Amino acid sequence: MGIIVQKFGGTSVATTERIQNVRNRVMEEVQNGKQVVVVVSAMGKTTDHLVSLAKELSTNPSKREMDMLLTTGEQVTISLLSMALQEAGQPAVSLTGWQAGIQTEKVFSNARIIDIQTDRIQKLLESNQVVIVAGFQGVSEDGEITTLGRGGSDTTAVALAAALGAERCDIYTDVTGVFTSDPRFVKEARKLESISYDEMLELAHLGAGVLHPRAVEFAKNYQMPLEVRSSMEPERGTRLEEEVQLEKGLVVRGVAFEGDVTRITLFGLPKSQAKLSKVFSRLAENHINIDIIIQALTGESKSNLSFSIMDQDIEHTLSVLEQFKDEFEYDKVESETGLAKVSIVGSGMVSNPGVAAKMFEVLEAADATIKMVSTSEIKVSAVIEQEKMLSSARALHEAFDLQEKSASLVK
Ligand code: ADP
Ligand code: ASP
Ligand code: MG
Repeated sequence: MGIIVQKFGGTSVATTERIQNVRNRVMEEVQNGKQVVVVVSAMGKTTDHLVSLAKELSTNPSKREMDMLLTTGEQVTISLLSMALQEAGQPAVSLTGWQAGIQTEKVFSNARIIDIQTDRIQKLLESNQVVIVAGFQGVSEDGEITTLGRGGSDTTAVALAAALGAERCDIYTDVTGVFTSDPRFVKEARKLESISYDEMLELAHLGAGVLHPRAVEFAKNYQMPLEVRSSMEPERGTRLEEEVQLEKGLVVRGVAFEGDVTRITLFGLPKSQAKLSKVFSRLAENHINIDIIIQALTGESKSNLSFSIMDQDIEHTLSVLEQFKDEFEYDKVESETGLAKVSIVGSGMVSNPGVAAKMFEVLEAADATIKMVSTSEIKVSAVIEQEKMLSSARALHEAFDLQEKSASLVK
């Protein structure tokens, strides 16, 4: 009997009525003869609410206690869904992350899954139970409860699907699939029938919050068939696949954006590779995520080094840079906040020169100042002023012809 993993996000389980809707979705698969594992998120905005409670009591709450707190959200949903299924005559059992055998590294708030012991789930499935697993959480080797980072329930679902050798993993959410851009802000965005793992991985890393990036990594590594679809509408969603045909002449498949970016610049850093690696090793040791890096030589022996980080890391980054000032030997440091990153993604870019040039023209016409740029074979990203983020994303969406305009492109 084939195993299916279904994942339902916060909006899809926000009320008891919605949990009953989820129950129906689960029972449909059972009636199709499948063994079903369900992964759920916390109800509605519960996680945000728990974060704000913590902030009322502490300016810098311990990450261990934050994980202890946030994992309670998912625990509410698993038990309620299990009760709803049992009420309808369907045997079901809820499991927390540790009960489900999800082992992670010991990194609070952003742990990676390192192993899943599936024996308990397998046994429960064999006894015809629906197994409901709390998303976003796991346990470290020494028994500490960890979380996988915001949006991490997607990763729980895909990792479980891979570990169980599931037929497929369905991610049910509040949109009907993956769109050419976030439909909440770009109203011309249209749903894609399919998207390649690599394109989705870029979009997810570049701010398209519809899937957690590590979920896409698992799906790609295990070639797990994955579909993103609506928990309310019956229509088919977007399939993730290895290779996707280019739509007629469209080199860009999606536009992503994210705000709250800061640029840090170290002026007068001695020009040496050893210095450069020292700076980034120290930042990495302190768990500071660096995104775009630009180095400009300013003479024989000096350089200016800029890199982008998320706003939330500014204070920590500046304190690390100050702490190692004598080791790094820079003259001064400056930070610029209020920035955002807009990106275009598409595997057709590899063979189409001029895409970056066109993007820069569009950004110029949208009156955005390009502060930093980064490219790969299938994406171009630019850091610009945050106040220009949405208008620039819309302008790029239109310029690269992604808007819904001909019925033949839409399914
Ligand atoms: P869930 O709680 O189900 O995990 P999320 O809020 O994490 O839902 O993800 C769904 C949201 O992702 C959508 O409501 C949408 O605003 C946003 N989103 C961002 N980029 C995209 C995109 N390219 N396609 C679809 N949705 C997107
Ligand atoms: N509840 C967690 C969050 O809001 C995890 C998730 O929904 O995937 O980030
Ligand atoms: Mg999500």
